[in-house]
Amino acid sequence: MTWAILVAAGRGTRLGGGVPKGRRLLGGRPLYLFALQTLLCHRAVAGVILVVPPGDEAGFASDDDRVRTVPGGEERRSSVLAGIRALPASDGDVLIHDAARPFLTPALLDRVLAPDAEAVVPGLPLTDTVKETGAAGLRTLERERLVRVQTPQRFRVSTIARAHREVAADVYAPDDAALVEALGVEVKLVAGDAGNVKLTTPVDWQLAEERLGELRVGTGLDIHPLVAGRPLILAGHIVASDRGPAGDSDGDPLTHALIDALLGATAQGDIGTLFPPGDPAYRGARSLELLAQTRLRLAGPVTVVNVDATIVLQSPRLGPHLAAIRARLAAALDVAPERVSVKAKTADHLGALGREEGIAAQVTLLLRVQAGTQAPQAPHR
Ligand code: MG
Repeated sequence: MTWAILVAAGRGTRLGGGVPKGRRLLGGRPLYLFALQTLLCHRAVAGVILVVPPGDEAGFASDDDRVRTVPGGEERRSSVLAGIRALPASDGDVLIHDAARPFLTPALLDRVLAPDAEAVVPGLPLTDTVKETGAAGLRTLERERLVRVQTPQRFRVSTIARAHREVAADVYAPDDAALVEALGVEVKLVAGDAGNVKLTTPVDWQLAEERLGELRVGTGLDIHPLVAGRPLILAGHIVASDRGPAGDSDGDPLTHALIDALLGATAQGDIGTLFPPGDPAYRGARSLELLAQTRLRLAGPVTVVNVDATIVLQSPRLGPHLAAIRARLAAALDVAPERVSVKAKTADHLGALGREEGIAAQVTLLLRVQAGTQAPQAPHR
């Protein structure tokens, strides 16, 4: 019987952000779920010990009864030991895998599970030239003799447990196999998987997001007449004005154009499809609420890459309001303000907009939709 230990106890300080790395969203999904699902779907894996940051057990909940969550330790070795102690049996084999490697494949698991050996690691040749740094300067190492090693690694439970018991705490052991090597046990090398990357730096994370996602562009355009006695609201920000956009809702043309862009990017019609004009349910509605409802329709692995918006209004001048509008828009979309641009221009006194009869907003946005998931649900009318 083979169990797996999935190590997700890291704080992920190199990635920044307040959430432990294991729970950070990758393509809209907590990181640990990627490898967890691959492990649970493999026929040879009886169950998974999920090692999490102490005190954060609830954050890593799983409704699969083959998963047991245990608190880890201060560093990797003590976290893995906590996982070994939680194994249901002291015989058989154990796979040890880092949750920071989300792209684990069944084929790699097959390769690691195949050999009849006490310890197995997947490894890959190096393509970069490797040099040793030291007081005497650089020394070039023989690349052909080196291998870079990944997880999952597989061990006899008795062997890895003995290694943790017997190998001194100060032995250099950046991976689990290093402890077994220190016992003098032979470790078998199998072919690793170049796609099975470890997400450590912000660049790693960005590349992983790009690998997961398909990009979809959307555009939206909205025009409203301006009438006396209506508020002028843009992305929920109120601009002092004696006139504002007419409309069923609060008439916020920027938010309406944004909704159209979201629906356009996912080919789900437009704002009128979702919120029919004249429907009393939306009379006086806050447009940001309509935006929230629209986002629920896109629920799942859809993230906004960036938004670029232009508002056309002859008067009043919007310059002093742009920072506030931008912040509101970013908050409404749960993205960093750096990913949102809001520009304003007048119509140079040309046409209806130039005569201050109306306001227009145009939005272009880019969405990342996770590859391999079903298309967003079509709206019912
Ligand atoms: Mg509108």
